[in-house]
Amino acid sequence: MPKKDSTQSGYYKEPAPHVSNDSPFASMMERFETAAKILELDPGVFKYLSSPEKVVTVSIPVTMDDGRIEVFEGIRVVHNSILGPSKGGIRYAPDVTLDEVKALAAWMTWKCAVVNVPFGGAKGGVRVNPKELSQGELERLTRRYTANMFDVFGPDKDIPAPDMNTNEQIMAWIMDTYSMKQHRTETAVVTGKPIILGGSKGRREATGRGVVTCTLAALGKLKISPSNTSVVVQGFGNVGSVSAQLMYEQGAKILAISDLSGGYYNENGINIDQALKYVQENGNSLEGFPNAEPITNEELLKLKCDVLIPAAKEDQINKNNASDVNARIIAEGANGPVTANADPILEDKEIMVIPDILANAGGVTVSYFEWVQDRHGYFWTEERVNRRLNRMMRESFDNLFKVSGKYNITLRQAAYVYGIDRVATTLKLRGIYA
Ligand code: NAD
Repeated sequence: MPKKDSTQSGYYKEPAPHVSNDSPFASMMERFETAAKILELDPGVFKYLSSPEKVVTVSIPVTMDDGRIEVFEGIRVVHNSILGPSKGGIRYAPDVTLDEVKALAAWMTWKCAVVNVPFGGAKGGVRVNPKELSQGELERLTRRYTANMFDVFGPDKDIPAPDMNTNEQIMAWIMDTYSMKQHRTETAVVTGKPIILGGSKGRREATGRGVVTCTLAALGKLKISPSNTSVVVQGFGNVGSVSAQLMYEQGAKILAISDLSGGYYNENGINIDQALKYVQENGNSLEGFPNAEPITNEELLKLKCDVLIPAAKEDQINKNNASDVNARIIAEGANGPVTANADPILEDKEIMVIPDILANAGGVTVSYFEWVQDRHGYFWTEERVNRRLNRMMRESFDNLFKVSGKYNITLRQAAYVYGIDRVATTLKLRGIYA
């Protein structure tokens, strides 16, 4: 096995660039290296795929409502575009780092390859707390970020989408700014748009729907019926709430849900329709949710259940708490919710982990559908979107299940092996441009 030191590639004896210990990028590199070893990947290809193709940082001056000029930092990382135009969301957060964006960009490359979507991987970030901005300030920030990234973005080059703290409205501003500079409407430059502007039906629910398709497939392998399943969900935003809702509709008992305000537990099951209504009427928060016992997010992760869906953020299950996880299946709704050093602990406990680059790939899959629809100017019914999404997610799950059996490796390792192999094979065929 390769040396498990992600700051220094034991296999290839080359330091990986800009890596700090235990960071999301380090986790990504550690898993990449394990898969590279299994694949006996050409060391040159490993080196090529270890670094992003493009890292762009821009300063974003914004005139605030009171007339002051404030300057924010914007990042866009294109990890790889061998399989097609790069694709990945933009997050707005005060603590977003280049390291995190680089990891997320690489995960997008592997994710698109895993579900056979013809895109490469990218990610963007702006260091800002959007809650502190007015709507006008948010719009000016988004438009200037887009203008500064005009040479990076493009429907055939790099296609952004929403991520943490960005939404349909922000995508609409990106589309409009890009279109104004092109002197024509270019809907396919961004996905996750409002439906009226060329968004796809089913996009909002797509990631949670994909999580549930994979979870049902995994339950099938373990011969557990969905109606006999207990489920715990961390995070009650887009991914967590839709995952909880669809599992609830399958007859599963949702033992606990949570958000930033904490966890909510009911041994007889939480009524998800009530929880959704509560959040809608309570400023998007579960704070004070009735008919449930308040617990901490740390306690929630240790609850005995069949399925645990971490759908909040990175690094939630790590070497300090992985041995306390008491689930049979972990379906990673979030990106990177389990650190690389927790993987062997979960493997020893024989917990089936459906890795993020498969489990949450429903979002990018329907983003691909949105891009296809925009380019054709022909829009699909929701039924068609969901049917195609379910089919692609199910086929990808079954495919990785086979790969994991073939090499006797975990589903996560299988996902990396399959995704990296696809990218590397395409790279070999295309060759290195000189
Ligand atoms: P969101 O902002 O809609 O929801 C995030 C939820 O997590 C909120 O309920 C928030 O309160 C909660 N949360 C945040 N920190 C928490 C903590 N420490 N403990 C418990 N709950 C916490 O975001 P989202 O779009 O649902 O994304 C969630 C995760 O899924 C992210 O990792 C994102 O990158 C990933 N993801 C999202 C999509 C998508 O289509 N939205 C696609 C793929 C991956």
